Amino acid sequence: MEKIAAHYDIVIIGSGIGGATILNALAGSGARILLLERGEQLPDTSAARDADEVFVKQSFKSGERWRNADGELFSPGNYYYLGGNSKFFGAVMLRYRERDFQRIELTAGTSPAWPFSYQELAPFYQRAETLYQVRGTVGEDSCDPSGERGFVEPPVPDEPHIAHIRQRLLDKGYHPFSLPLAVDIRRWLARSATPWDGFPDTDSGKMDAQAAALNPALQSDNVQLVSAAKVTRLNASECGKHIQSVTFEHEGVVHSVAASIVILSAGAINSAALLLASKCARFPNGLANSSDQVGRNFMNHNCSALLAINPFKRNRSVYQKTIAINDLYFGEKQGSEPLGNIQLLGKLNGSILQAGLPRHFRWVPKAVLNWLANHSVDWYVMSEDLPDANSRVTLDDDGIIRLSYKRSNYQAHRALLQAAKKMARASGALITLSKPFDSSVPSHQCGTVRMGDDPLKAPLDSYCRSFDQCNLFVVDASFLPNSAAVNPALTIAAQALRVAEHIKATEKFT
Ligand SMILES: Cc1cc2nc3c(=O)[nH]c(=O)nc-3n(C[C@H](O)[C@H](O)[C@H](O)COP(=O)(O)OP(=O)(O)OC[C@H]3O[C@@H](n4cnc5c(N)ncnc54)[C@H](O)[C@@H]3O)c2cc1C
Repeated sequence: MEKIAAHYDIVIIGSGIGGATILNALAGSGARILLLERGEQLPDTSAARDADEVFVKQSFKSGERWRNADGELFSPGNYYYLGGNSKFFGAVMLRYRERDFQRIELTAGTSPAWPFSYQELAPFYQRAETLYQVRGTVGEDSCDPSGERGFVEPPVPDEPHIAHIRQRLLDKGYHPFSLPLAVDIRRWLARSATPWDGFPDTDSGKMDAQAAALNPALQSDNVQLVSAAKVTRLNASECGKHIQSVTFEHEGVVHSVAASIVILSAGAINSAALLLASKCARFPNGLANSSDQVGRNFMNHNCSALLAINPFKRNRSVYQKTIAINDLYFGEKQGSEPLGNIQLLGKLNGSILQAGLPRHFRWVPKAVLNWLANHSVDWYVMSEDLPDANSRVTLDDDGIIRLSYKRSNYQAHRALLQAAKKMARASGALITLSKPFDSSVPSHQCGTVRMGDDPLKAPLDSYCRSFDQCNLFVVDASFLPNSAAVNPALTIAAQALRVAEHIKATEKFT
């Protein structure tokens, strides 16, 4: 391994969508960059395409335990590998809508405004689409935001059963659109015939953070990666206005490196936890936290799986996940409340259904689950979760993360689920079954170190720079002021590119 130096121009913590994307954009800047990642290379074994291994045995989970609000330990669906959670992502790369950047008042609370408009982020969305090699099209999505797209190819094709569902929905007046997807479908299927949603990528066609952003950046001589390097604290300078150094453990040894700039990209839960763990006599509430907002406003989307079953029609799709519907994104009619997005899930099978069964249904025979999966079209119904200061990440005295999650805006989710069931029946389903996603799977975690204009209300400015420690940036899902109702990865990547541009324009590396 290359020797770890005493000082770097930039230290990046975490190689997920935020960390890998900003690394990719800074790699050519001439800055000497160290990337610290607690995970290692995801092992390339047959388990990666085995639904029993991935979903039932959960072989790829870290074994880490967190506590919930009641103090009960649980094993979170959070992944630590080069590429972070995106190794497992569904590769949907959707933009937030223009209105998502504005304040929206809802019965259940407020979806706050961003400190800048959609137009400011639009060019970076385009660059992020190109970087992640997104396949997509324009003109189908009923609330598609404006601006040029960076799509590299036409959309991933519908399989025959899904093409039929799309046509039925069109005939009934819905507006299904092709999901923008960061997947090279030929390469993915060449490895084996499985869906990609929730399955780990072994460099087999999914454009996750490692494949699309990290690997190209590692070609630069000025970038050094240390994996299996768990950062344990950030250390403030004597004046308190900078991060002086970063402490991490690697192969049983504790290291400390100094950095001119520190970019924290450990994911919304771990970034908040790390800032809280970095408390010291001068900052007893942790770093970047004079607003007392670090760890607060945790959001995770309200999501349900919906099985649209037709006992007389077999769904032979392998991957399925190619269409979505935004007809109710901003509500049923002008002035009504936003409801959210409905998109296909990766094709479920009996093992995946078994893994998600509530305890009192564990007796259901696998043959029944297989039959259900063979006759269902599987949807992901997603609504906005609103920020709440009491929905938060804290650290217990023994150092274990406590996730005190408070769901919000659930009435809107129920309404969307009802509408989704109606849509499923319009598409030919005779039976609909639904189940909310478990809160132990914080797959769309965000909001815990948010951006804003006011240092009293937000830890970060609009370039994700800490108001308190001016050489600290937090560039991952933490910065999102709201969750909107679209998958977060493209928005994290676009903002990472914007922050990189800002750093290159304002900092000098010699
Ligand atoms: C099953 C699944 C499906 C999903 N599908 C989609 C989808 O289709 N579209 C979409 O937009 N989003 C999807 N998501 C969400 C998406 O993956 C995340 O929003 C995104 O990965 C978040 O990026 P991030 O940079 O904030 O954090 P992460 O990807 O979590 O990256 C954080 C990185 O930091 C590392 N790290 C953590 N703590 C430390 C530490 N102390 N020291 C060093 N390193 C550390 C982690 O190992 C990790 O590599 C999905 C997520 C899951 C789990």
